Amino acid sequence: MLPALCDKNLCTGCGACANKCPRSAISLLPNREGFPEPVVNGQCRSCSLCTRACPVLFPPDHYRSEKPSGVFACWSLDETVRRESSSGGIFSVIAEHVLSQNGIVFGAAWDTHLCVRHIAADTVAGLASLRKSKYVQSSIGESYRQAEHFLKQHRPVMFAGTPCQIAGLYAFLGKQYDRLLTCDFICHGVPSPAVLEHFLSSRRQPVAAVVHRTKNSCREHWVTYFTEWTFAGGKRCIVDDSFIHGFLTDLFNRHCCMNCQYAEIRRMGDFTLGDFWGLGAKVPFSQPVQKGVSLVMVNSEKARPVFDAVKERIFYEERSLEEAIAGNQRLVSPSGEHPLRNTFFRDFAAGMPFEQLERKFLRKPWQERLSAALQIYLGMPRYAALRKLLAGLLKRR
Ligand SMILES: Cc1cc2nc3c(=O)[nH]c(=O)nc-3n(C[C@H](O)[C@H](O)[C@H](O)COP(=O)(O)OP(=O)(O)OC[C@H]3O[C@@H](n4cnc5c(N)ncnc54)[C@H](O)[C@@H]3O)c2cc1C
Repeated sequence: MLPALCDKNLCTGCGACANKCPRSAISLLPNREGFPEPVVNGQCRSCSLCTRACPVLFPPDHYRSEKPSGVFACWSLDETVRRESSSGGIFSVIAEHVLSQNGIVFGAAWDTHLCVRHIAADTVAGLASLRKSKYVQSSIGESYRQAEHFLKQHRPVMFAGTPCQIAGLYAFLGKQYDRLLTCDFICHGVPSPAVLEHFLSSRRQPVAAVVHRTKNSCREHWVTYFTEWTFAGGKRCIVDDSFIHGFLTDLFNRHCCMNCQYAEIRRMGDFTLGDFWGLGAKVPFSQPVQKGVSLVMVNSEKARPVFDAVKERIFYEERSLEEAIAGNQRLVSPSGEHPLRNTFFRDFAAGMPFEQLERKFLRKPWQERLSAALQIYLGMPRYAALRKLLAGLLKRR
């Protein structure tokens, strides 16, 4: 008899079941929408270990924090780290602290086929590939097993990922480890890896590297969502990427993201990281923010001494939880459902070329396209100056 895994629509693809199976009888394979989903093979002996490790069937809610003990706007004082990170680079600062204690850090990195996978880093240089958000669901591989292995050797382990991946880790481990530090982030939802692959393979030249939300455009302006591609020949370009447009409008995010169980203040991770959107909108913030600001929530007793230990390497200012929520609704509610999501996946599964999918579902109004092109071409300060000038001229008329 096959094990009772959770409902496919609720499955987050965390991979706790596959990691738990002692006979490797569960593989995570792409479903019709291209998301990893557990499939049981003939090696299964119905031991039910997988069922008990499923965070959907047995939510590890006892690991959830209460209200955070502190909410901070921060960034790394290391300018290179800040520039190479999506927000303020606080992931790297915490990770370096864990490494300095002889620890191991797990996070998501691009592989050579432009798939995103969870891997481990045990050196500061190794953190470079973990830095920066990759806006696609990462494949967890055997990283829960590896993390358990290091924890059993009494090594400090930091595990960073989506809140559902952190829930998967806790459900897999089944017990608390003092040396485990978890770091989730505020999550908008995860797009389909197969859609990204289809998108990239339809580019005119082969893409060799992708940087989502590059800070190399717009004079390091943090708020934009432009992508930097490096082509096989080494040429680089910055684009207003329609894949990111699909991600932000929830067109091809995972089904369960629409009802995410983790989009709430009681967090899975010891730390929660995010972008401090809306910082200073109501209560003034004195510093310039254009290079990127992390929102850091200190959720647990384990996180507090770590945050205190890294304070000398960051700029930080305590802010209110209300301000964090006001700028980042994903802290309290899941992202919504795109009305054309099902139609998109029907066409995608039928093999519609990406150019056609783009035309049908992802076309932005010309004003938005023009504005993005000008931002990329002119850089943010000159673009802002141009807008001001045009607004002034229009007013005079
Ligand atoms: C799919 C996704 C959706 C997000 N949605 C929001 C949001 O709605 N609001 C918000 O404020 N922030 C969101 N973030 C988080 C944000 O983009 C930054 O990652 C976060 O602010 C940390 O930034 P940093 O500068 O400290 O470090 P960075 O170096 O930018 O952080 C990178 C960290 O994220 C992990 N990571 C990167 N990609 C993935 C992935 N695909 N799956 C799992 N882990 C990954 C890395 O392992 C590393 O730990 C999202 C991130 C992702 C990957």
